[in-house]
Amino acid sequence: MRKIEQRVRFCKLILLAFVFGILAFLVRFAKHSEEWYTQPYNKNLYAQSGELLTGTITDRYGAILSGVTDGHRYYSALPSVRLSTLHTIGDRNNKIGTGALTNLREYLVSYDTKKGAAAITDQGNTVSLSLAADACATAYTALDGRSGCVGVYNYKTGEILCLVSTPTFDPDNIPENIEESEAYQGVYVNRFFHSTYAPGSVFKTVTLQAALEQIPGLTARTFVCEGSVRVGDNTVNCPQKHGSLTLAEAYACSCNCTFAQLAVEIGGDKMSEYVQKTGLTSSYKIHGITTAKGSFELASATVNRLGWGGVGLYHDLVNPCALMIYYGAIAGGGKAAVPTYLHEVRDEKDRLLAIPDPVFTEELVNPSTASTLAYYLKNNLIASYDRTRFPNVPIGAKSGTVEQNTGKSNSWFAGFVDSEEYPYAFVVFVEHGGSGSRVAGEIAASVLKALIPVP
Ligand SMILES: [Zn+2]
Repeated sequence: MRKIEQRVRFCKLILLAFVFGILAFLVRFAKHSEEWYTQPYNKNLYAQSGELLTGTITDRYGAILSGVTDGHRYYSALPSVRLSTLHTIGDRNNKIGTGALTNLREYLVSYDTKKGAAAITDQGNTVSLSLAADACATAYTALDGRSGCVGVYNYKTGEILCLVSTPTFDPDNIPENIEESEAYQGVYVNRFFHSTYAPGSVFKTVTLQAALEQIPGLTARTFVCEGSVRVGDNTVNCPQKHGSLTLAEAYACSCNCTFAQLAVEIGGDKMSEYVQKTGLTSSYKIHGITTAKGSFELASATVNRLGWGGVGLYHDLVNPCALMIYYGAIAGGGKAAVPTYLHEVRDEKDRLLAIPDPVFTEELVNPSTASTLAYYLKNNLIASYDRTRFPNVPIGAKSGTVEQNTGKSNSWFAGFVDSEEYPYAFVVFVEHGGSGSRVAGEIAASVLKALIPVP
């Protein structure tokens, strides 16, 4: 009898485990089935090559950037749009990891638990990206074959209006030498999200932010630039002798001597604290993409290196997207929306399925310092840059020119549009472009003209 009782108990245990397993599966099925369904191993959705065979992608105005017809994925008919939006859409073979075809695939597939594979159509859902395709094409043309990236976004909503990374390629005419040619080095990398570069003078804004809060009476001081100054055990120099300068003038003419001395006065630990506060050493999560973190070695640097660090020219590296967000936070009073390239999702019957809610950063800049920095950035346009290139709207900006061993400098231009109607922050980076204000500034001007109509 005891043996039978034992067996009954054992059977009950097995039955209990079985029921528990089924329940656990059902809960997981309800929670994750859509996610499982859209995985690349679902051969109803993906071709052998990895191509997603359902779903339509448009720009913010409804222009089709990619769709499916007769079981094949196609891209825009315009080559400049195909090339400029490729890193945001993704390629057919999923080699570019930052595109909507990978990161928004759950939105592209119209999932139906009852119908299963029978619900799949060429059209699928329509994912409308926040990009303006013509502004992307303008940025691509203005980059003119050089490597780099351009980003413009609305710092109040987070919507990215322009995002271009070069080198790029035409998904309809993939170059035969793409894997070996130097011209296509890092072609699958979206430089805007995943690269870091020496910031040069665009970093002086962080030094200015720290100086305004840490050095009493700073704005009343006068600075003298002899073209070179001893900082610690070595010198820091400027391209020319700037002479006697106010703080606004030193920032507008990007005086290395002044900003190196300010960084030393602030101190390595405090400089480090400020860099962390600005978000430049953090990464952001954007549609499952983790942006590259910047890196700074200010706390442990020698006095001379701290001086060079204050002008953005020591071992420091920044990510273009994080820099754009930082300039957005200055314009936005201390905080900015985290970027998104999703505008909305609609099903085949044009019913709205999803619309992203803006997510905001922590406070990157103290609000009153943000308004002072915005004032200085706008003053740069009056004092230093060719304002006539930006006829549509007033902007605030800082350029950066970072010398390279090749003899041609990397160029930066970052800032914001000073407008309630167009609350945009932007960043332009060009490898071996030359002068930041001239080359990257010119690209920023073209893209802003494409985005903001002449009043
Ligand atoms: Zn100087």
